[in-house]
Amino acid sequence: MSESLSMPKAALDDLIALLWREGFKVLGPVARDSGVAFSEIRKTSDMPIGMRESQEAGRYRLGAGVGGEIFGVVNGAGSLKPFFFAPEETLLEIQRERRGFKVTETTPSAPRLAFIGVRACDLAALAVQDRIFLHDRFRDTHYAARRQDTFFVAVNCTRSAATCFCASMKSGPEARSGFDLSMTEMEQGFVVRSGSPVGDAIAAKLNLGAARDEEVAAASGRISECAGGMQRHLDTSDLPRLLYDEADNSRWTEVATRCLSCTNCTMVCPTCFCHTVIDEQELEGNMSRRVRKWDSCFSLEHAHIHGINFRPKIHDRYRQWLTHKLASWIDQFGTSGCVGCGRCITWCPVGIDLTEEVAAIRSQRGNR
Ligand code: SF4
Ligand code: SF4
Repeated sequence: MSESLSMPKAALDDLIALLWREGFKVLGPVARDSGVAFSEIRKTSDMPIGMRESQEAGRYRLGAGVGGEIFGVVNGAGSLKPFFFAPEETLLEIQRERRGFKVTETTPSAPRLAFIGVRACDLAALAVQDRIFLHDRFRDTHYAARRQDTFFVAVNCTRSAATCFCASMKSGPEARSGFDLSMTEMEQGFVVRSGSPVGDAIAAKLNLGAARDEEVAAASGRISECAGGMQRHLDTSDLPRLLYDEADNSRWTEVATRCLSCTNCTMVCPTCFCHTVIDEQELEGNMSRRVRKWDSCFSLEHAHIHGINFRPKIHDRYRQWLTHKLASWIDQFGTSGCVGCGRCITWCPVGIDLTEEVAAIRSQRGNR
């Protein structure tokens, strides 16, 4: 780990301006539509200073927080996912010609993005998506084009939302990898660390001094307090076996009476990657586009093949989602498909909570 540096709050404007000068489009958390989302920022005051959010199962409210606190809002519905794995994009254009047709592969023109205020769970989720789209047998050229030359300024969490459980998933609240710079916010400024050669170069240009030992100790104390104070936990000690063994547990039927199969949980999940590919033809029949769109294992059509639907009931779809996230994902990719960000709990309209569902399945097994 690199030397810890001390950055006054006023220098955050310098960092933002420097990243713009270095050719990045700078994005940070911006309050909009009653939540926060990564949007273009030009200065610190574009971010929700002095605000915090409160989250519970099926509930999200943005409100007043602590005066002067820049990164008081933990996260919103939007993760990094849509910036690299686009919700909808054209993969191919097929043009009819006099004899035959011409196929053109499209490649997105992607700006170099710098993100300020990324949480540890979202960096962990990005590593999961990188594994799928970049480091598997097939490299996704669209994802790769957007992902290259990105710069991440992580913010270590010093408070958690009531729906967070990253400590259980070992993905937070401190960012340990995947960032160029990481910051821990204190009253007077930030304790900053570099995590890459590009981060070193940017930090050098900011002329930051070394952080005092007391500052470093206070910053890591706040992160530990945040980890220790998390309200939700997920016991992973018997996963993935528990979910494989409990495929017939009656809890799947119970949760299906509440689940609306609305797909919200998969849309907000920073690791979910299900998609569908469709051909869209222009009416006159001269041009066709092959389009990729986000899909969800909760949508009925997702399991429809050759006239048969192999997950016709909500019970089947909820079980598929949770078992994939916490069990078969590990067999497939070597990591859990869940980073404990809590978004699926907050944004589920009926407040279904996967930590509760796993605990209920475990307890029913124990009672048999
Ligand atoms: S678990 Fe909640 S968010 Fe997910 S599909 Fe069911 S109702 Fe929708
Ligand atoms: S399953 Fe839920 S808690 Fe886990 S990463 Fe996805 S949205 Fe976050």
